[in-house]
Amino acid sequence: MQANGNPIVTLADGTVKQLNPFSGTQVWTVPGRGNRPLGVKNEQPKPLTEDDFTKRDAFGSDNPLLTPPEKARVVRDEQSPTGFRTITGVLPGQVHDTVAEFRRVPNLFEIVTYDYWTKNYGFVPDAETKHRMATYLADEQGREHVLNIVRTRLKASGKPAADVDAMADDELLQRAPDYFAGGHDVIIARRHFIDGATHDDQLASSGTLTVDEHRALTAFTVESIADLYRRNRYVRYVVAFQNWLKPAGASFDHLHKQLVAIDEHAESLKREVTKLRNEPNMYNELAVDYAARQNLILAENDHAIAFAGFGHRYPTLEIYSKSAVCEPWLQSDEEVAAMSDLIHACHAAAGASIPCNEEWHHRPVDLAERMPWRVMIKWRVSNLAGFEGGTKIYLNTISPWDMRDRVVPRLYELRDAGHISRNIRIATECSCRPNSLRYNPHVEDSPRI
Ligand SMILES: [Zn+2]
Repeated sequence: MQANGNPIVTLADGTVKQLNPFSGTQVWTVPGRGNRPLGVKNEQPKPLTEDDFTKRDAFGSDNPLLTPPEKARVVRDEQSPTGFRTITGVLPGQVHDTVAEFRRVPNLFEIVTYDYWTKNYGFVPDAETKHRMATYLADEQGREHVLNIVRTRLKASGKPAADVDAMADDELLQRAPDYFAGGHDVIIARRHFIDGATHDDQLASSGTLTVDEHRALTAFTVESIADLYRRNRYVRYVVAFQNWLKPAGASFDHLHKQLVAIDEHAESLKREVTKLRNEPNMYNELAVDYAARQNLILAENDHAIAFAGFGHRYPTLEIYSKSAVCEPWLQSDEEVAAMSDLIHACHAAAGASIPCNEEWHHRPVDLAERMPWRVMIKWRVSNLAGFEGGTKIYLNTISPWDMRDRVVPRLYELRDAGHISRNIRIATECSCRPNSLRYNPHVEDSPRI
């Protein structure tokens, strides 16, 4: 901690020194650098053709067979209370029978591979997954699709095209389980550009979705995380994130999230847990309550709260679930929707031109300590330079209050316009008191998954 034990200290000249209470990340905001415009400016937007809406890249809705076989999709359903439902087992001949608002597909380039789980743990796919694979491969187009995916992958990893083309089907199909039982998935949104877009700077981002669409995306992501845990008992954590735009690491300017199942708790999480063991209520005391006392709360609803974060390498908006239940997949639909609404509002307020990483954090299924579900949105608006490398002190051009002052006025406008949920209370309308988060550090819940 810094002077007076505060994560944020403002000096007489206006310099803001921040220390992340959980990670120890040290950040300085130097005055006079925060007012420049943010975001990626496309100086010469090009007019769109009809094909750009559906075939611009491998995530396009007309290119469903350029990605590995779909694990699940979300379609509209007027009978459902949410307006959406999830369907699985779609074969190539059926991909256009329904309109997929969101599709969950295996990542062609896995970070942690299917091989990793089989060779290191003796992982065997569950019966349902085996059946889904068998059905897919028994379908003529399905088999051809999988063969093409395996060939594409082999060529991309540097195997000469002639060698790949010479491989027998059986040999290629040995790799089929990678694309049914792997633990690295992508969730792809339908749109590349907003409806009615005329130029290629009008991208469809998280913030341009409707409130209901964003709720469907969030619920689908939550159920997919749980599914990854349930189908592989060696998984200890599922990393969930969204990279938006190239400066944030996205390969396509097409809205998507990624889920990666891993077999450990990362070092950063371990550090946080060590602290948590001594301070079980730290997410209230050091995060939300502290933010509230610093007037950094952006918005709140009945089950979630958002504030301008501190002690991050990049300007960060933090959204915490207030639910007493740690695991997002065990929370009520209403609680998940409330989180979704604040995440959506934060993205909408930033706008589609700001590159950002959306990082999800939840309690690992094998952790005794309790921690709330929380999501961080990090604006990738500055580049690290030699100063950071030499000191591990990061220069962040926007202080938490600058960030609040950029976001809050937009939230009012967006709520007035009906684009974000009307149930959101903004800034001074928030009535948060100490211990807004209702997770009880001392009560165990069960089951976990
Ligand atoms: Zn696209």
